[in-house]
Amino acid sequence: MSLVSEIKCPKCGAWSPSTGEVDAKCVKCGAYLEPERVAHEEEVKLAESQRTGYYMVISENDEQLTQIYKIFVNAVRWSAYYSVMLFFLFIAAIIFIIGLIAL
Ligand SMILES: [Zn+2]
Repeated sequence: MSLVSEIKCPKCGAWSPSTGEVDAKCVKCGAYLEPERVAHEEEVKLAESQRTGYYMVISENDEQLTQIYKIFVNAVRWSAYYSVMLFFLFIAAIIFIIGLIAL
């Protein structure tokens, strides 16, 4: 049994040594060996960047109108996020109050 595991390139079918890295590439054609993992990794990164709140990066080079638009879009997204959270807090509070009354 070999210690070096190999992975088959989905594009050209050549075998490359598996490094275990997400973005490992085929030694022959340079394609990603595990495109699903790369796609998943990108989704995770996107979700992380959204969690930090920077939906749209406002750059100094943007026109004033573009900057205003981006600030507006970010504000709308943040308020949507908070209203959903408040909604669930509200529901939880109602359930809690009903629970108190029922006792
Ligand atoms: Zn290949």
